[in-house]
Parts: sequence; C-alpha cells; structure tokens
Amino acid sequence: MKYSPLRNYVGGDFVAPSADRPFLDVFNPSSGAVISRVPMSAAADVDAAVRAAQAAFPGWSGMPIKERVPVFYRYKTLLERHIDELAALITEENGKIESEARAEILKSAELTEFACSLPQIVTGEVLEVSRGVECRVERFPVGVVASITPFNFPNMVPNWSIPNAIALGNCMILKPSELVPISAGRIAELLKEAGLPAGVLQVVHGGQETVEALCDHPGISAVAFVGSTRVAKIVYRRATSNLKRCLALGGAKNHLIVMPDADREMAATNIVASMSGCAGQRCMAASVMVGVSKVDHIIERMVEVAKAMVPGKDLGPVISAAARERISRYIDEAESQGAKVLVDGRHVKVPGRENGYFLGPTIIDYVRPEMRIAQEEVFGPVLVILRTRDVDEALEIENASPYGNAASVFTESGGVARYVMEHASAGMVGVNVGVPVPREPFSFGGWNESKFGVGDITGRGSIEFWTQAKKMTTKWNREAGVNWMS
Ligand code: NAD
Repeated sequence: MKYSPLRNYVGGDFVAPSADRPFLDVFNPSSGAVISRVPMSAAADVDAAVRAAQAAFPGWSGMPIKERVPVFYRYKTLLERHIDELAALITEENGKIESEARAEILKSAELTEFACSLPQIVTGEVLEVSRGVECRVERFPVGVVASITPFNFPNMVPNWSIPNAIALGNCMILKPSELVPISAGRIAELLKEAGLPAGVLQVVHGGQETVEALCDHPGISAVAFVGSTRVAKIVYRRATSNLKRCLALGGAKNHLIVMPDADREMAATNIVASMSGCAGQRCMAASVMVGVSKVDHIIERMVEVAKAMVPGKDLGPVISAAARERISRYIDEAESQGAKVLVDGRHVKVPGRENGYFLGPTIIDYVRPEMRIAQEEVFGPVLVILRTRDVDEALEIENASPYGNAASVFTESGGVARYVMEHASAGMVGVNVGVPVPREPFSFGGWNESKFGVGDITGRGSIEFWTQAKKMTTKWNREAGVNWMS
C-alpha cells in the first residue's frame, strides 16, 4: 500500500478517528491496486471537528477580510508550485489522465484567485436614507459550515467551496469522497503552509453516517453538497429539516442540440471531447446529442474522432469496477432495444493495465427518448444520439429531462442559438461549446434536479450562501428631524 491509512485533519493536525471505526480500501482505478485505506468517521469525530472549528471561529471571523485573503494568495502560489505532484495524486486516486488532472489544479488556482478578489467585491452598501440617518449592509460569515464532495474532481470540487467560504470568514469541515480521499489531506497541508490558522479547516473522512452527523450537528450552520441527485435530495432534506441553510448540487443529463448548419469540425471535436473528457465522469459532460434534421456528416466525423482515441492515453478509466459494469449494462440494454452502437468502448484492453477499469468512448445512434439510457445519468464516456425534425422538438426533449445542469447548441445561426439559450431548461448553456462551464467570476450551478437551494456554489453567486447580511441603521446627527422612522 503506497499511502498509510488516512487520518482526519482536526485543529491543524492529523488525528486518528475514534477507535474501532471501519476502514475502506482506496483503489487506483488504472491498475485496480489498493493504494490506501480511509476511515469511516463517526458522529463523535464530526463533533470533535466542529468543536475545533468553533474554537477557531471568533479569531478568524473577527479578522478583516483584507487580512484573511493573503492566506489564499499564498495558497494559489503553492497550488501552482506543486501542480506536478497534486496532478499525479489526482491521476492516482481518480484515474484521469495527466492533462485533465493538471487542468483541475489550474481551475483550483482560478477559484482561489477569485477568493483573493473578494475584498474588492464584498464592500457592503451604504445610503443616507433620511436626513442624518444612514442604512448600511455588511456581510458576516454564517459560522461553522460543512462541504461534502464527490469523487470526480478530488481537488477542484473541494476548492469550489474552501476558498470562498473561508475567505468570507467561515470555518469549515470538509467531507471528501471516500473513493478519492487523499487529495483533501494535501489541500489541508498546503493551506496550513499558506498560513491558515489551526481549526479553520477540518477534513473528516467517511460516508453516509459521517454526512448524516454533519447534517444533524447543531453547531453547523450551512451545508454545501456536490454529488448525485439521489444523495443531494437526502442531504438537502436532512440539513434543512435541521434548520440549516443548504445548497445541494446533483447529477446531470446534458443535451447538445446539433443543427445541420453547425461547423462540422468544431462540432464533432467539441462533442467528442465533452462526452469523453474525464471518461465522461463530469456533471457537465455531453450525454445526449439531439441531431436536428440532416446531421450525418457531423456524426461520421464524430465517429472518426472517437475511434482515434486511445484508452489509457487519451482517456482514463472510470472510477470502479462496479461503475464500468453499470455503464456497460446501459449500453447492452440500449443495443438490445434496437439502438445502433457506432463506436463501442465495452471490451477495451490497455496493455500493462489489464486490471484497470477502462471503457472506450461509446457513441450510440437511433436511441429513442423513452429508453433508460436517454433519461438517466450514465456518468461514463457514452453519448447517445436522438433525432428530431426541428429545434422545437429538440427543446421538448431537453425540457422533459428532470435534470438541468447544462445544455448546448451547435449552429452558425445567431437566431437559433439565442432561441435555444432562452428556451433550454438548464442553469448553464453554451453555443458551440461542449462544456459550458462558467469561468470566474461567473457562478457554477444548474437548475431543476441538478441543484437544490438558492444561490450557486462558486463565483459571485456563492457570496450570498456563505454570508448573512446585517442591515444597520444609524443616526449621529442630533439636529436630524423627527419623522416616521426616528
Ligand atoms: P455521490 O452522491 O455518491 O457521493 C457524494 C458524496 O455523498 C460523497 O462524499 C459520499 O460519501 C456521500 N454520500 C454517498 N451516499 C450517501 C448517503 N446515502 N447519505 C449521505 N451521504 C452520502 O456522488 P459521486 O458518485 O461521488 O459523484 C458523482 C455524482 O456527482 C454524479 O451524479 C455527478 O453528476 C455529480 N456531480 C455533480 C456536480 C454538479 O456540479 N452538479 C459536480 C460534480 C459531480
């Protein structure tokens, strides 16, 4: 085992979880080897972490924001300095290829850069509302907050919440995915090196029981969650029923509407990159292509591009043997129901990594909207193609999905592009962009069953979630007149 069994990070140090807790194996998805073990922390471990955060909160939240953010200037530099090592760690525990892992760290650095700019944004408001009477609004942290993250971005998704929430004065408990828990410890170490005081960030490893303890703990004021819709609903219901604010981002089924006038090369390469990047394990991945009218020339090119991809070099494995089986079952079922598999990623072998969980890019044509593969989140390098006569029929299919993370249209027509942007039922829409992730300062967040709660997880949209506004009314001028608001 390459890494010793993991410990929680509480009060600035790595500590063992309570005695007799079970540990799970952590796998390298490219080789199937066990690389570490992760503890399933108990409610008592969550309680210890909350107490450490509560102890740190008065000092951290009491500092002016301009004194808090220099930690993140230094953290950003450390992320950039350690990019090789951090990316290698992502590749080891998640499986994604080196260029994707490096992109994840660059995105973490961009998220941190935004947090560094918060003092320029969160300046409050003030107005003389009546002679000598001022109203002002200042934003205060909400307290001790929790962040629960999924397996697909071991470094970036924790950094969706850590820099903003902490720069805004909160103290945090991070509960990373038990499938990719190692990066979280490195994030904590780098923040310590950057000067983050002990107790401001805790890392508590675990699974369902640990998350339930976070949702139930009276010392936690806010819960941010990123993961599947099934668990997002559980966490949102549980946290809000305990009277906490909650923002829970869920799964996705992203539709790309492809018009016959789309630029053939741009559409084909972007669509294949979107469905196969990170082995399709992205909540922004293309999942359904809706081809409007005659788009066979684009599909032919997509098939060429996908067939040229080499698993193990151009795309990594999926996260587990179970995930590979689940994804393969979706493909088998669609095929048995009459869909046509144009590119088949099921039985790929990567020489030297025969025990890895690899699947090649898979493109399936003539899928019907009522098939399970067209409706459910597959979360693998699989793209299904539906055919429609016009753009309204394509939008009807997109609108019928219970999800609403992302949607894109490929066209050369500004009118059609604008029409789709207006009518797609998704929080993030793109034109000729396969992965329409908003860059900072714009916020990340979907609609419908892809997000529960108000606000977004990153960018400006996260400020409201991580803070509470205090409205202050003051009068210092004794000469001010007496009126209805005196
Ligand atoms: P998951 O929902 O299985 O796990 C997410 C977190 O919830 C983990 O930390 C896990 O330990 C915890 N958890 C699992 N089961 C639980 C339960 N019953 N009760 C309480 N907590 C529980 O998600 P995953 O498989 O790690 O990640 C993939 C999913 O995340 C996909 O659905 C993907 O679309 C989604 N995702 C969404 C976004 C977004 O921005 N909307 C971003 C990344 C990933």
